[in-house]
Formats: sequence, structure tokens, C-alpha cells
Amino acid sequence: MSAEILIELENAVESRRNFAIISHPDAGKTTLTEKLLLYGGAIHEAGSVKARRAQRKATSDWMEMEQQRGISITSTVLQFSYDDFQINLLDTPGHQDFSEDTYRTLAAADNAVMLIDAAKGLEPQTRKLFEVCQMRSLPIFTFINKLDRPGREALELLDEIEQELGMKTYAVNWPVGMGDRFQGVFDRVKKQIHLFERRAHGSKTAQDTVIDLGDSRIEEFLDQELYYQLKEELEILDEIAEDFDLEQIHAGKMTPVFFGSAMTNFGVELFLKSFLDYALKPEGRNSSEGEIEPTYPEFTGFVFKLQANMDPKHRDRVAFVRVCTGKFEKDMTVKHARTGKTVRLSRPQKLFAQGRESLDVAYPGDVIGLNNPGVFAIGDTIYNGKKIEYEGIPCFSPEIFSYLKNPNPSKFKQFQKGITELQEEGAVQIMYSADEFKREPILAAVGQLQFEVVQFRLKNEYNVETNLEPLPYSVARWIGGGWEALEKAGRIFNTMTVKDSWNRPVLLIKNQWNVAQIVGDYPDLNLKSTAPVG
Ligand code: GDP
Repeated sequence: MSAEILIELENAVESRRNFAIISHPDAGKTTLTEKLLLYGGAIHEAGSVKARRAQRKATSDWMEMEQQRGISITSTVLQFSYDDFQINLLDTPGHQDFSEDTYRTLAAADNAVMLIDAAKGLEPQTRKLFEVCQMRSLPIFTFINKLDRPGREALELLDEIEQELGMKTYAVNWPVGMGDRFQGVFDRVKKQIHLFERRAHGSKTAQDTVIDLGDSRIEEFLDQELYYQLKEELEILDEIAEDFDLEQIHAGKMTPVFFGSAMTNFGVELFLKSFLDYALKPEGRNSSEGEIEPTYPEFTGFVFKLQANMDPKHRDRVAFVRVCTGKFEKDMTVKHARTGKTVRLSRPQKLFAQGRESLDVAYPGDVIGLNNPGVFAIGDTIYNGKKIEYEGIPCFSPEIFSYLKNPNPSKFKQFQKGITELQEEGAVQIMYSADEFKREPILAAVGQLQFEVVQFRLKNEYNVETNLEPLPYSVARWIGGGWEALEKAGRIFNTMTVKDSWNRPVLLIKNQWNVAQIVGDYPDLNLKSTAPVG
């Protein structure tokens, strides 16, 4: 390996930052994404991403949308540059298409941005995604949005994050007023006030007006009462808050907090700059060969998402691969760790990116979309050089469950083949009742869309029509104590015992409240919300 390639890799890693946004629907993820792209110069007028999304939401038939190739493919990763950084924003599916993919995307991310609506504070989907980030100890940057509207007290929001998520906070900036009286934010690091100007919809980038704290014009610009309130709040913050600690931030134990208003662009660039200062660059990853540094010169990566093309005329699939080490070049051949096969990597899908170059080469921290010749499954490693296998992506607790019925016995074989292949690919989790007489598979998914996809593909690819018979559970917990512990526990009310694809016992439970109860009553079961693959 030449020294040149090493320098090339080092430079690529130093300049790359990758992140995913975690939020609850309506917090403003689409708006923030768009504004980040605007500042990154990847789009010139806000509104284009939104228009595409709105179109997507409005379409009742999701399958039809997928047939118009490219829509969700282009939004899987958004690449843009800012200053000297190459930024990859991994888009986490949300809303009605919330699925296991949303969690899996976080396995490919190095940082997370937790977006919160100032009026609502923490919401359920954010909490779930936060837990997945914590499993990986991802650094989490908090952006509290919609300050131009009445919201909750800033101190109260910080307190909620600390109490409920068990994570320390460091407010990098602090709001001056809120809602109608929102006047800007105070940058605690630079000791400057950024003044908010109400703009129509912030479709273009704009420069903030900045004044230093000691500047005599402050009283001219700021409402007197708000100025005194700010001084008071800053004093409280200085007293109670922990010091800024980058190490804790990188370990996901402290979150830098920013306030702003994505819709009016306010605070977005300030956030982006700080994020780039503090975010983790692509780091080493655990593998069968120990931790592998991103500058390891051979190409390696793993599959974190598969997307089937719903058009029966084009049955290709796209495998999204996170590049971990080395340099990807179009048409290179690699080894596929699980099967030992050699695979040629053509890269047909255009991801949302600037410049042509990024289509043909990729570096650690980047995501590539590969034409999947049917060999890839979620979590698969591809590599060159010595054999390396990255840790797989775990199974996450499904939230909806349904028997899948095949009403036509003559289709038994196709039905079996279909569900086995879809399960292997990671489209859905398949479980079976522990009761031997119930042979029908149970589909277990994180979102309704996964069911629709499975039924659609069974019909189109395997020619089997199926029916669903929903089950009344909303949580699955793997039983760490195994079958033995389950037997000792005896009959547990309001639950159903099933086994996953690897014959491990899983308890389906009605709701979170019941989970807490069972954890208290049967500690030996050792309930777990995720399980390794296989
Ligand atoms: P997503 O569901 O998280 O992608 O949220 P969207 O970006 O679609 O935003 C949801 C709604 O909140 C839209 O009507 C946005 O215009 C609005 N919104 C987003 N950011 C802000 C903001 O900073 N201030 C106000 N007032 N509204 C916002």
C-alpha cells in the first residue's frame, strides 16, 4: 500500500462527519434537513426537499411511490459540504414509514442530532431512537426547535433531558425570549448575542446580526426585561451546569444543546458550525479481528439497509453499505464474509450528492448504494484483504404483531420460500407460537409499512395472496434466562410466548406498563429489548 493512499484516507477521514437526526414526527426534521442543505450549498432555495416529501406523504398508495424509482433512495443519504467538511446526513425513515430501518440507520451513523419541539419536549419516538443511540454510545447533539413560537421554559427542557434520559446537558447557546418575544440566542462560548430577525420563511441563507455581550448597543437592541432575564438565567446556568466536557460528549454522556428556529433559519448555521467542531469523525469499529481503524487501507463495509424495488419489471434491490475503511471504487470486487463469495460492486444508484466524483469513489463514513444481486442481508460485511466481519446489527423489539395466513394450500411451497427469504433479508421478523399446534408464522414489525411490503412482495415475487390476523401485543422481550427461566415462571398473564427465527424464547406483552410489572415480578427472566442476530 502506498503512502499516498494512506494520506488520501487520512484526509478523507479528517474531513468527514456523518450523522442522523432523531425526532418525533412534526418536530421539524424535514425543515432542518432542508436548511442544513441550504447552508451547505447543496440546494439553493428551500422548498425542494419539502415538496418531494409532501408529495410522498400525500400519496395514499405507498407502493406506487416506490415504483417511481429514486424517491426514497435519494433520501437515504444526503451528502453536502460546508467549510472543509464533507457531511453525510443519513436519513432515518420516520412518520408512517417508521420501521426497523429507522433503527438500523443509526448503526451506520457516527453522531446523532436530537431534534425537539420546544413546546412539546421529549416525545415517544425520540425516546425510542435515543435508546438505540445510547446502545452504541453515539454522541448526541440537541437542537431545540420552533423558538419563534411559544414553548416551554429552556431550563425546564434541559431538566427534562437530564432527568428522563439520564444525560448531562451543556447549553452552547441560550434563548433570549420566546414566541412573539423571541429576540435571539446568546452564544455562551463566544459570549455574543445573535439577533433574530423575523423573515418570511427563510428560503435563502441569511447572515445573523451579532453583538458582543459588553457592547453598549445591547440595551438598544434587546427588550430590557428580557435582557435582565437573560442575565439571571445565565447566572443560574453557570451555577448549576456542569463544565463543557468533550470526552463525555463523545461518549454520549453529555449533550450540547442549541436553541433555534429551523423554519426561519435562525440558529441553524450556528448549530452547524458547532456541530462540526465537536462531532466525531469516522472511528474504528469492532470486528472479528478486533477494532479496525478507518484508515486501514483495504476497503471494508457493512450492509445496514436493503431496499427492494417494488416494480415487478425491475426486481433489483439496493443494498446500502456504510464504508468503514479504505476506499471504495466503482466496479471493484470484494469478498462477502457470510458466504465467502466474490462480488463485483457496481454502483447504479445516484445518491443525493454534490459533484460527480462522489458517485464513483467513497471513503470511510460515506454510504454507497449497491445493486444487490440477491446476496446481501442486513448486517453483512464485505471486505478486501484479510477476512473481517463487523458485529451484526441486532434485532429490535417489534411493536406490531400479526399472524400471516395463506388461505390457499396449493401455494404452501411458495409461501414458505417467500417468508424465509424475506426474513433472511431482514424485511420483517418472523416468529412462531411456542404452542406446537399453531404453525402459522407471526409477522413482527416496528411499523405497519413493513407488513404492507411483505404482503406486496409475497404477491408480486412469489405469487401468494395472504391475510393478516393482528395480535393484541405491542412489545416483544427476549428472555435472557432462556426456556428454563420461562418454565419456572409459569403462566404469565396478558402475554404470549413465541420463538424467534433462531428458536429463542420471546415474550409478547400487551404494553409497557405490563413490561414493568413483569420485570418486577419475574427478575429471573432477564428480559431484553434487543437480541443479536443468530
Ligand atoms: P418533520 O415531521 O419532523 O419532518 O417536520 P416538518 O419539517 O415537516 O415540520 C412540521 C411542521 O412544523 C411544519 O408545518 C413546519 O413548517 C413547522 N416547523 C418546522 N420548524 C419550525 C420552526 O422553527 N418554527 C415554526 N413555527 N414552525 C416550524
